[in-house]
Amino acid sequence: MLKESIIFLNKQGLADLHIHSCLSPCADLSMSPLNIVKYALEKKLTTIALTDHNTAKNCPAFGKECQKNGLNPLFGMEVNTIEEVHVLCITESLDKALEFDQVLEENILKIKNDPDIFGDQPVINEKEEIVGTIPYYLGASVNFSIDKIFSLLNKKDWLIIPSHINRCKNSLISQLGFIPDLPFDALEISGKSSTYSAFLKYDIEKRIIKTNGKEYPVVINSDLHFFEY
Ligand SMILES: [Zn+2]
Ligand SMILES: [Zn+2]
Repeated sequence: MLKESIIFLNKQGLADLHIHSCLSPCADLSMSPLNIVKYALEKKLTTIALTDHNTAKNCPAFGKECQKNGLNPLFGMEVNTIEEVHVLCITESLDKALEFDQVLEENILKIKNDPDIFGDQPVINEKEEIVGTIPYYLGASVNFSIDKIFSLLNKKDWLIIPSHINRCKNSLISQLGFIPDLPFDALEISGKSSTYSAFLKYDIEKRIIKTNGKEYPVVINSDLHFFEY
């Protein structure tokens, strides 16, 4: 599937490119791959991406569950860069996602996870069983900067989209104060926050942001951490 068609599907409300599973410490334990798929079917989505914080370890079970139910899965993660900027990295290839997962595991700041403080981080298999937990805190930052992502990932295979850029936490604007001139595939606007919306040259009708002499497409996603029903 072409990147352009994924962004188009998002515009049509058919693709959610930012969903957390129970593996993210801040997400609810009910966010299992099966439950995410049920939610997507109810919402009439056709394409969904699993983007846990700095990990793709629940992507294999997620992919299987999507395939069983006729959904198009996308794999990846929400990387927390050294600047504490959240960036969605999304691919159609499970293998590529798992390869980058290893890079992140080697580069994340290793803080022991205390489930009572940060939350649980269970890895789920295809049978919806917990097969392990990640011992280090997945919400920590990795030791490379946002521009390094572009040298680590082949742009041909990946969508690279800064998350919730209008949010007052972990966003390009909150951390850097500007949108760097990098070849992002799109920028994500959070529907839940409008902190910096006035600052952005955001054309709501066309869903584009004009900056750096470019027009970036805008995507809007759920950033789902728990089911709202
Ligand atoms: Zn985020
Ligand atoms: Zn998120």
